[in-house]
Parts: sequence; structure tokens; C-alpha cells
Amino acid sequence: MSFLKLGLCNPIVQAIEELGYTTPTPIQKQAIPIIISGKDLIATAQTGTGKTAAFVLPLLTLFNKENKENKENKERCLRGKRIRALILTPTRELAVQVAANVAQYSKHLNLSSMAVYGGVDSAPQQQRLIEGIDILVATPGRLLDLAHQRALHFDELEVLVLDEADRMVDMGFSDDIKKIIERLPADRQNLLFSATVNNGVRIFADYFSASKMGRPAVEISISPEATTAPNIDQWLITIDKDTKSALLSHLINEQKWDQALIFIEKKYSAAKLVAQLAKRGIEADAIHGDKSQAMREKILADFKSGKLKYLVATGIAARGIDIGELSRVVNYDLPFKPEEYIHRIGRTGRAGATGEAISFVAMGDFKNLCAIESRLNHIINRKEIEGFPVRKVVPVSILNYVRKSKR
Ligand code: AMP
Repeated sequence: MSFLKLGLCNPIVQAIEELGYTTPTPIQKQAIPIIISGKDLIATAQTGTGKTAAFVLPLLTLFNKENKENKENKERCLRGKRIRALILTPTRELAVQVAANVAQYSKHLNLSSMAVYGGVDSAPQQQRLIEGIDILVATPGRLLDLAHQRALHFDELEVLVLDEADRMVDMGFSDDIKKIIERLPADRQNLLFSATVNNGVRIFADYFSASKMGRPAVEISISPEATTAPNIDQWLITIDKDTKSALLSHLINEQKWDQALIFIEKKYSAAKLVAQLAKRGIEADAIHGDKSQAMREKILADFKSGKLKYLVATGIAARGIDIGELSRVVNYDLPFKPEEYIHRIGRTGRAGATGEAISFVAMGDFKNLCAIESRLNHIINRKEIEGFPVRKVVPVSILNYVRKSKR
């Protein structure tokens, strides 16, 4: 199956070939024709499956076609402060990432795009919006600020994309998104991508059907098992909490890790871990919500370029990070939700590459581990590391575990 057969136009196929994409991923095969046909779409897919291209490529094809038709009729299609497509993302990092993808995929087209997000001065963003932008990638808070300041208007909007919708719900953006949707023209195409489609996410789908006068969205699902498991070597080590940092240093040195993205629960423990590693001669850095946007971008750029080998990140700060060839992720702290685990390990083993996902599991994580392994439907391979005996043993999980209370 080639990209041309999916209905994408030549300049886009050329751009993605230059990036080395030869065949569409499963989500791309399914989503691209549906989006080109103008239908609404609700897609269950993880980051790492090629989902960004799955919605950006057909969007560009549709806009390019319209541009051509308008040129023939000598119409100017975009007025000042107007946008044609809005892609909403939960985090700044993901907004930057998606906008970078849009720019790559549209390099041979005459379409404009940019990202707007908080934590930086809004004046340059407002300045760029004056001319109008075809594709705007935004985080919800900054978008609403700009709309309130009348720096942009939605009356020419044709397509809305909600990217990582479940994360937007988790991060408390549901009300903001509702406010944004209320401002959009009713006649628009809606696309939703989410790792899981739970009740919180379903509410967005209800807003969609209201806008479409009863035309139902097409739903597709790319199973996480099919997208994560085969390329990722998952294993875990049971460990006592107080020996975690020593174990991490040991693994980095003994197994000669070239690179690792290390997930940690709390901001203050991220800074502490960086200091503990430094004491053992390992240079690492951390990104979390308290660091300025400029700092976060610099650290991320250093990590992507290989200048920084070990990056400690809180779950939120790490969302949306796409590092082409990330070889390893470490769950220094096991996440509470199984979806979060799948999402994290999806940072490695992307688009056909192989990767390794290592989890540190302490006695207190037992229930989380049961929930994760039940979701994966298999037990994660356990390894013992010499010199790190465990005082508090973590039992083997029960696979059909159902959590009683929700946090
Ligand atoms: P995403 O799920 O959008 O975060 O994409 C994950 C990674 O896969 C990104 O680095 C993309 O550049 C890459 N990618 C997307 N589609 C393809 C494809 N068809 N072939 C090869 N790599 C791809």
C-alpha cells in the first residue's frame, strides 16, 4: 500500500518520502481515506503509531485541493486573524512537536502553520496571527486567551482536531475545550485522537454530533498490543524504594546505557535524582512543570541531539516528546494508570525501531503493577540485578485484577 493510493497529493508524498516514510502505518491506512472523504473521526491510537501524520497528511491534502480550486476562481480564501484548522494538544511540548511535523509535511505546499502555547510572551504569536494562519496548533489555555483578546477569530474554521483527548481530560481541560468548541462554526469536520476513549472523552464526541446535525463520526481503533509490544523489550526489577537511585546508576554504568528517558512522579524527586546521579559521576538533567518553557525546550533539544544522555522527566512534562530513535525508557516510579504505562513505553520502539522499557517496582506499587499487567494481558519479565537484594518482596501479579477504588 502506497501513500499515493490513500489519496494524498504529490507534494505531500514527496515531503514524506524525503523523511524516509515508505509505507503508511496501520492508523494512517485507516484514517487518511476517512478524513479525505470529509467525515468526522474518533480514533483510538497511541502516540508512536504515526497518528500525527494520520491527521495532518489528509488535512493538508484537503486544504491544498481547496487552494487550487480557489486560485482557479481567483478567490482569496483566508482573511486576517482567521484560521482554517485548529489542532488542540494537551501540552506545550506536543504543540511544538505537532507544529514541527506540519511544517515538514507541508514544505512543498503554500500553506501556513504555527503553534501557540503558554509560558512564553504572546505578542509574537499575536503578530503572526494578523495575516491569518491555515493550520494552528494550540494548547487550550493560550488559545482561549488569544480569542478573548480578539487576536484570532474562528468564523472560517473548517477542521477541529483534538489530539491526545484523554490527556486533555486528565489535565482538567474539559471545560476549556467546551468553551472553545462553543465558539467554532457548527459546520466543520471533527477529528479526535485518544489513547483511550473513556466517558470523559465521549463527551467531546457528543459535542461533535451536535455540530454535525446527527451525522455520526466514524470510529476506528488501533490496538495498543499491536502497536507497542512487538518492538519493545519490557522488563522490571523489584526494588526497595531507598535503593532506586543506586540501582539506576549501576544500570547506567554496568549496562553502558547510551540514552534513557527516566520517568519520575514528583517534581522535587526529579531534581533530587539528578543530584544523586551527579554524585555518582552521571550527568543528567530534568524537565518538569516548574522549569521555564525556554529551559524545557533547551533541555529537550540537548536530549534529542544526544548532547544530554539521561533525561529525568515528570509524566506531564514528558508528554508528546518524540525522539526519533529513543532506545530506552525507565519507569523510575511506576505510573498509577495502565494507560500511562503504555503511553510512556510508546516513547521507545517507534515506527518499527526496537526499544527497551524498564520499570522499578517497589512493594507499594503492587496494585499498580497488577493493573498494568492485567491491561497488557501478560506478566512483565522480571530480572534480578546482582548486588541489589530486595527486603520487601513484590508478589507475582493477579492478571484479572480490577482496582476497587479510583484515586
Ligand atoms: P506519532 O505517533 O505521530 O508521534 O509518530 C511517531 C513517529 O513515527 C514520528 O517520529 C514520525 O515521524 C514517525 N512516522 C510516522 N509515520 C511514519 C511512517 N509511515 N513511516 C515511518 N515513520 C513514520
